[in-house]
Amino acid sequence: MPSLSPAAMETERFRAYGARHVDELRDRFGIPDHIARSIKSLAAVLPFRVNEYVLANLVDWDNIPDDPIFQMVFPQSGMLRQEDERRLAALVDDPDAKKELRLTVQQIRGSLNPHPSGQKQLNVPTVDGNEMPGIQHKYRETVLYFPGQGQTCHSYCTYCFRWAQFVGDADLRFAVPEPSRLVEYLSHHPEIDDVLVTGGDPMIMSTDRLRSHLEPILNVPTVRTIRIGTKSVAYWPQRFVTDNDADDVLRLFEEIVASGRNLAVMMHFTHPRELESDLARRAIARIRSTGALAYCQAPLVARVNDDAETWSALWRAELAAGAVPYYMFVERDTGPYEYFKVPLARAHEIFRSAYLTLPGLARTVRGPVMSATPGKVIVDGVTESAEGRFFQLRMLQARDPQLVGRPFRAHYSETAAWLDELRPADDAPADIAAAIRGPLPQVTDDIDSSAWLRQELAHA
Ligand code: SF4
Repeated sequence: MPSLSPAAMETERFRAYGARHVDELRDRFGIPDHIARSIKSLAAVLPFRVNEYVLANLVDWDNIPDDPIFQMVFPQSGMLRQEDERRLAALVDDPDAKKELRLTVQQIRGSLNPHPSGQKQLNVPTVDGNEMPGIQHKYRETVLYFPGQGQTCHSYCTYCFRWAQFVGDADLRFAVPEPSRLVEYLSHHPEIDDVLVTGGDPMIMSTDRLRSHLEPILNVPTVRTIRIGTKSVAYWPQRFVTDNDADDVLRLFEEIVASGRNLAVMMHFTHPRELESDLARRAIARIRSTGALAYCQAPLVARVNDDAETWSALWRAELAAGAVPYYMFVERDTGPYEYFKVPLARAHEIFRSAYLTLPGLARTVRGPVMSATPGKVIVDGVTESAEGRFFQLRMLQARDPQLVGRPFRAHYSETAAWLDELRPADDAPADIAAAIRGPLPQVTDDIDSSAWLRQELAHA
């Protein structure tokens, strides 16, 4: 595998490549012609962006197309329906078919469930009937905040559940340029103590820009935790080590910690190779030196990390680097889902086989977890009884706080890969079964004054 010397990596400037650079990458890395052609035509539908660090240090070019990192960042044949791939291939190089290509791309994107888990309809809160852009409020104590300048990433993952945000459809963008509406919303919602700053990747922003989004949140006394969701430690660890403002970002983290808040950097590592890099491990050490907490999470994705050895190695590497293994997610039902999905039964087997190899300190990890419409549902196991086989499930998190922590069963299926393919058992509590079957109302000020919340606040 080609790799840069540590000195070269440290002086490297960030450079991203996209669909228009495919020929350049083909020539440089010896990508076979037919694969390069597929990348080009699929990149008309799916977002494609990769950077120099990933190309030179993470992809194993001797093992493409099967290499897991190659699968993780390069769109390629099999990710769309064959018929759609054929249509695209016929149109993409035809200068007279621009309009038809545009319509075809639009239609294929629409068929890929671009709004999974009702995030567009269910999670955007309203105040006085007006939507609050840039905020999603799904769980009582947590809001997701989408800073406008943080809505790209250092590279794009082919399996990303937010892929639709990156393809230029304004209707799908949640982001806002500055946090005043967030601060206003937080001041009306003292029950929210946790702000998850997400994207895209907030760490794509300069430190000054990041500061402009984070500092105002520190003026809200009810916010006790700030989390930053990022894959930058895997895709561009220079952000915390050698970038011009790398030291400044560490100072910002120190200031947040000094304000008495928990600062948690929620790092996305998909494959243990991402942690073989000295630079990535140094980035984690520097983040931790500020007093910030380092947590790790990733989805289980076919062709990338769908075996127990990979997860065992990943979680061990995270622990060795001083980070806390946190979540194994189930791939969401959006984008090239058919290509990447792993059935829940297999996902549980992989999780358990990897988990039992771990030292106690790495058994902080939870999974496999579906972040679904009613909340986060974990597959705890498979049980057998006189009535048959069942998945043993639990609501780890829920829109309705009354559901949190409660177990339930669903009929076993060898092939089911998402919650909506499961049939709750007859003994599943009625409120859980109802939450699984249908969406709940939007989070609004009306819900805020609902009985459960008043009751909860009274006991707080
Ligand atoms: S880094 Fe995260 S947000 Fe960005 S493409 Fe990958 S999964 Fe999506």
